[in-house]
Amino acid sequence: MKFATKAIHAGQEPDPTTGAVMTPIYQTSTYWQKSPGDHKGFEYSRGTNPTRKALEACLAALENAKYGLAFSSGMGATDAVLKLLKPGDEVITGNDLYGGSYRIFTKVYEKYGIKFHFIDFSKPENMLAYVNERTKLVWIETPTNPTMQIIDIEGVAKISKANNLILAVDNTFASPYLQNPMDLGADIVMHSVTKYIGGHSDVVMGALLVNDDQLYKDLWFIYNACGATPGPQDAFLVLRGIKTLHLRMKAHCENGEQVAKFLKTHPKIDKIYWPGFEDHPNHDIAKKQMRGFGGMVSVTLKDADLQETFRIASSFKVFALAESLGGVESLINHPVSMTHGSIPKEEREKVGVTDNLLRLSVGVEDISDLLADLEQALA
Ligand SMILES: *Cc1c(COP(=O)(O)O)cnc(C)c1O
Repeated sequence: MKFATKAIHAGQEPDPTTGAVMTPIYQTSTYWQKSPGDHKGFEYSRGTNPTRKALEACLAALENAKYGLAFSSGMGATDAVLKLLKPGDEVITGNDLYGGSYRIFTKVYEKYGIKFHFIDFSKPENMLAYVNERTKLVWIETPTNPTMQIIDIEGVAKISKANNLILAVDNTFASPYLQNPMDLGADIVMHSVTKYIGGHSDVVMGALLVNDDQLYKDLWFIYNACGATPGPQDAFLVLRGIKTLHLRMKAHCENGEQVAKFLKTHPKIDKIYWPGFEDHPNHDIAKKQMRGFGGMVSVTLKDADLQETFRIASSFKVFALAESLGGVESLINHPVSMTHGSIPKEEREKVGVTDNLLRLSVGVEDISDLLADLEQALA
């Protein structure tokens, strides 16, 4: 099945009880057993729930994976992957990451004796200097949040495989519509479903997709044992959101391109980060591993201190100043004071996350209204 068909149908069948075409919200914590152990595969909703199960199958299909696991947030999903590790293990990860990933690595898991190397992943072979017998996991994000660095997934996968390392890819920014890390050799794909997959800024959810049977068993054990699983209402909302993922992503890409092109020559803009530009670092890799460049655009403002950046960030009328991304509505975010506040200044500035950086999540409104809003806010 092709992407659009999977987005609408995968994992979903008419309800066996009533024939309902849409998967019902199975709002139940527990399930009747005829005699102990004699049940229909559902015992308790922390572990299994039919609405969530349909969603997990749909997510797995979209990422060309065998198994899907939904979590109550993207961080819940990340946390489950980290629980595969034990004290003494080492992780190689990128130097530009979602702030919450940086925070859970350094503030939660370093405490348990796990070591993280934050490296420049612009060339996959850069990781070789950090591989040793304690290395277990490679965690990358591409495009990165917020500077849109592109990492060669296939290149990193080859080196990871050769060294027996688990490769996990946070595919939130691309969404499965633009990029499928599984096809490029990743072992785990992680999503903040909250963003493009949910697509309507009304649910917080995460997901892990895997192919390997043992890895799935290990992650399912953690999922059930630790319990960060989402409820059926949220699973229903995401199933509904996914039905238009391909339509929304097409529109995000079109509007993203127009916004990026408009800002590139704007006199108030200094740097612009959007992987569709030929002069964007690793643009050729983006072209190879992605089917489009997405709706995320970051810019730095020319000659703007923090106060001036705040003034501009607060002067939009269509773009809403808010954390998060990937919804149908356009959002603007100031990473330093919002999403990336937990990363120390000297760390973030190394990769260009400066006080005058703004990140746009370009929505699917009419492009002329978005451009007019940018025009007036930057005037
Ligand atoms: C938002 C986000 C996360 C965290 O997901 P939540 O659903 O907010 O817990 C992880 N990675 C990236 C790239 C994100 O944008």
